[in-house]
Formats: sequence, C-alpha cells, structure tokens
Amino acid sequence: MKIQCKNCLPKEGIEIPNFSIAEKEQSRKWKEKSPIHAVKKLMDAMSFSHRDAKYIVTHINVEYGQCNSCNFNTLDEEQGKCPKCGALNFNWVTHKS
Ligand SMILES: [Zn+2]
Ligand SMILES: [Zn+2]
Repeated sequence: MKIQCKNCLPKEGIEIPNFSIAEKEQSRKWKEKSPIHAVKKLMDAMSFSHRDAKYIVTHINVEYGQCNSCNFNTLDEEQGKCPKCGALNFNWVTHKS
C-alpha cells in the first residue's frame, strides 16, 4: 500500500505493508516510549529502511483521534489526512490499555 503526506519527503510517498493489529499496537507503544526507539525497533522487527521507519513513526498517532502535527483531535479515519492541516495520520484503532 502506498502512503503519502503532503508535509513530508519523499513527495511521492512510500510503500508500506499492511500492518496487523498486533504490529499497530506494538508500533504505537514503541512511539509512546520514544520515537527514536520506535524507528530502530521497526527497522529490526520489520526490516524497514531508516527512511521508511522514520516516515511511519512520524505519522503514528499516539493518542487515538489526535493529529500528529496539529491540535485537531477528532480524527475518525484509521488512516487519512487531517482536515485541518492535511498531514497523514495513522490513526489506528488498537486496544486501549
Ligand atoms: Zn507527514
Ligand atoms: Zn492536523
């Protein structure tokens, strides 16, 4: 699946696999801990390049509904663009802990 964000390079976007629920949950937890740590973990666990791992981590919403680049907080799509700032959001539904 190809993803694109108008705010980020590369402009043409990147290709990512479909994440399983477990991978989504894990990735979000890693980001919550530390984005730098999350990039390394994604590279190790799913063999992403540094560029792609960073791109993915940047767009994960730690809190459901909360845009990762502005104060908009009522996103309701799993993966979509923020209506306010246009940034790509991985607004994944994972189990609340
Ligand atoms: Zn972006
Ligand atoms: Zn936004």
